[in-house]
Amino acid sequence: MPHWLVIDLEATTEEGGWPVEDMEIIEIGATLVAADGRELDHFQRFVRPQRRPCLTSFCRELTHISQAQVDGAAPLGAIWPQFERWLAPYRDKLAGWGSWGDYDRRQFVLEWQRHGLQSSLERLAHVNLKQRFAEARQLKRAVGLHTALQLAGLSFQGQQHRALEDARNTARLLPLIFAH
Ligand code: AMP
Ligand code: MG
Repeated sequence: MPHWLVIDLEATTEEGGWPVEDMEIIEIGATLVAADGRELDHFQRFVRPQRRPCLTSFCRELTHISQAQVDGAAPLGAIWPQFERWLAPYRDKLAGWGSWGDYDRRQFVLEWQRHGLQSSLERLAHVNLKQRFAEARQLKRAVGLHTALQLAGLSFQGQQHRALEDARNTARLLPLIFAH
């Protein structure tokens, strides 16, 4: 049975949002799931941003991530090898990785380049689960995670805009998406 990795990122931001180039990862959440959506393992780390180390109040309120949590975290260059070590035993079983939309993939690509990091995710297929959900449900346009869960008769569990919780809630939709 192939496994799937669902990843969600939190990043620095301001009201109205920033272009991806101006954002930096502050939290990585990943859930490794079996095809039926059951969690086999998970990964969560805060990441200390380098360019704008001080979070905006908007960002702190949106994510419920505190300044102390990112101050106490390591930068991406130190976190990434930890992620790779965590993923290593599962790599051969992975069918691919997914995220809700394309934002997380774009943010990763940018920061892997910026920090000169090798990533095993680059060799894996990425699935835009937001788009795939819209196709599976024959929606006219892609919807947010909260709405998607509601359409599936589910409600968001835990804190929204937190990486691991967002990833876990996204993973709950996998069986519906892959049933099509
Ligand atoms: P999410 O996975 O939906 O929590 O979003 C990932 C990141 O995108 C957040 O950590 C923020 O940096 C940014 N973001 C999400 N929603 C907003 C918003 N309404 N305004 C500004 N930035 C946002
Ligand atoms: Mg999130």
